[in-house]
Amino acid sequence: MEVVRSRQALTQAIRALRVLGKTIGLVPTMGALHNGHVSLVGLGLRHAQAVVASIFVNPAQFGPNEDFSRYPRTEQEDLEKLKAAGVSIAYLPAVDEMYPQGFATYISAGKIANELCGVFRPGHFDGVATVVTKLLMQASPDSAIFGEKDYQQLHVIRQVVRDLDIAVRIVGAPIMREKEGLAMSSRNRYLSESERVTAAVLYRTLQQAASKLREGRRAESVIKDAKNALQKAGFTKIDYIELRNAQTLLPTYSAPGRLLAAAWLGNTRLIDNVEV
Ligand code: AMP
Repeated sequence: MEVVRSRQALTQAIRALRVLGKTIGLVPTMGALHNGHVSLVGLGLRHAQAVVASIFVNPAQFGPNEDFSRYPRTEQEDLEKLKAAGVSIAYLPAVDEMYPQGFATYISAGKIANELCGVFRPGHFDGVATVVTKLLMQASPDSAIFGEKDYQQLHVIRQVVRDLDIAVRIVGAPIMREKEGLAMSSRNRYLSESERVTAAVLYRTLQQAASKLREGRRAESVIKDAKNALQKAGFTKIDYIELRNAQTLLPTYSAPGRLLAAAWLGNTRLIDNVEV
């Protein structure tokens, strides 16, 4: 595995793969890697002959009071995991490589970006759309893999790629979970042992709500019950639980759809979603 830190070195390393006739899959991450990220690399290798994985904690997608500075950074372990997973190129640009002095152009991700997580994280999806577009321009992969864990993000990226005519296939990857159901996330490292036990209630609650919705119960009352269940379990704040159309992400009142949630345990914000 080649480790590169500049755009120029990335271009050269990719050119070397292209000369060998290899198709390329891109797996963007922010590091602090877990098995969810590793599964994305595995999926990447099913869609392309070589995988480029990036690690970049993107300041543009963090709000002023968010966890940018304390976001876990575990470069050595990450590189070992990427190598073991079969990555050809690990791309780890510094912040001023991605946003050099004078950088001024941001992508505005549209209406859906201001809903769900966007209500609570203004500007977040513009930051995501900007960095992902830059990574796609820099690596020009044949496909790029994103997890359904960040379901709204996947939706926004599909929209950006469609709207800006970027020639890449976006592949969605299923959510990898801990044994007790908690969706794997780099931010799970913030959780204390007891918070971790409570965190698993989020998935269980969403699953229970989804099965009630499948039985035809009204979304409004199902969601109200789910919020109560989370509060009772010890979640300190619930940003939202919403049923949305799985394709358009527009509000819907019945299955089939996607039930999405964001809730806080102390200082840690967890998101999850399930198919309905
Ligand atoms: P992050 O490092 O959190 O920005 O995530 C990088 C990529 O990994 C994104 O496409 C995420 O959706 C994906 N990802 C994160 N957690 C999981 C998970 N538990 N299962 C599958 N994909 C995930």
